[in-house]
Amino acid sequence: MPARLEDRALERIAAKVEAGERLSPEDALVLFRTPDLLGLGQLADTANRRKNGDRVFFSANQHINPTNVCILRHTCIFCSFARTPREDGAYTRTLEEVFEEAEAAREQPTREFHIVGGLHPKLRLSYYVDLIRGLKERFPGVHIKALTAVEIAHLARIEKTTTRQVLRELKDAGLDTLPGGGAEVFSPAVRATIADRKLAAEEWLRVHREAHELGIPSNCTMLYGHVETLEDRVEHLTRLRDLQDETGGFLTYIPLAYHPDHNELGRQLGREGTATTGFDDLKNIAVGRLFLDNIPHVKTHWPMVTPFLSQIALHFGCDDVEGTVVYERVYHEAGAHTPMMLSYGELVRLIKGAGKEPVERDSLYRPVRTFAPDDPIFRPAPGSTMGSGAAQELVELVGTGRA
Ligand code: SF4
Repeated sequence: MPARLEDRALERIAAKVEAGERLSPEDALVLFRTPDLLGLGQLADTANRRKNGDRVFFSANQHINPTNVCILRHTCIFCSFARTPREDGAYTRTLEEVFEEAEAAREQPTREFHIVGGLHPKLRLSYYVDLIRGLKERFPGVHIKALTAVEIAHLARIEKTTTRQVLRELKDAGLDTLPGGGAEVFSPAVRATIADRKLAAEEWLRVHREAHELGIPSNCTMLYGHVETLEDRVEHLTRLRDLQDETGGFLTYIPLAYHPDHNELGRQLGREGTATTGFDDLKNIAVGRLFLDNIPHVKTHWPMVTPFLSQIALHFGCDDVEGTVVYERVYHEAGAHTPMMLSYGELVRLIKGAGKEPVERDSLYRPVRTFAPDDPIFRPAPGSTMGSGAAQELVELVGTGRA
């Protein structure tokens, strides 16, 4: 069904979407600027359905953050997670403590450990090699997604070796994929403002290129909703798309919503207590889907934008929902008011509640479980509101083409 557009500026882009033509950076700017959110959503929904039909992927994963001690504590001013070594709340887990935390996976259907942390001044590469090897020994069926490009580059510096060598050693230990964090926004001016001294854009992209060349797929992200301009966003997405043209190694794109609580940037912007708007959250999903035509999946990160908005995002070009998580620390330190975890059943019902087909996937997006319409999992647990309520009503309105 052709999209019903209120913004005439979208008509030319709609024709391109219909013809499966690549969008230009100028098109992406028009999409970011349009007030016609529902028109944009319909275009992104068309692009997503062409790739993924009604399937929405999720994974049973567990986040593990081995340390929050970080040498960039005072220069990544958007970060609420990091601590200096002697600061209140600083922690560094021993390997045994990490393995103990991972034991939660035995009571859950966990298929992936998602491991990220701070740039610890003293933790050597051997700690991460032993951590990954130890987890693989204890949980041979669980996939390891670990260490952002920023952490890989930090380890290379500490070990006075190359990032390629660090990636090789981690892969030998059992690393399967890289998460997409640390990209923030590639613009040098934005980086100088919010993450001075963090790995530069070229370096972030180089580490991912090397990972792809070594057979380590990865995710990619963009942190939006702080000081970046719409032009900065488009430039960022263009660089991700260019690298994907080159390597094909990105699995999913995840727009990450900035949270302003308990960090210096939030104080400078006078924005403590307020996060991004739902309007912008949905726009970032939709533009990502339309512009990144060579990345198979677009993921909504419910700990940042709420499970309810994530449910609506499934009609704005999104086919991938952040998993069960179990322990979420990074965004909850920044004021996220979302739950620390969603149960497997809640995730499945959230997706089904949006009229979509839930598909549990492994980390490489191979389906591992689908659900018949009469699967008992669709009967919500007493007291659960997931898959119903205000979010569901909005989804229904959007589904009719116009709220
Ligand atoms: S964003 Fe990452 S690198 Fe920057 S301070 Fe936080 S933990 Fe450290």
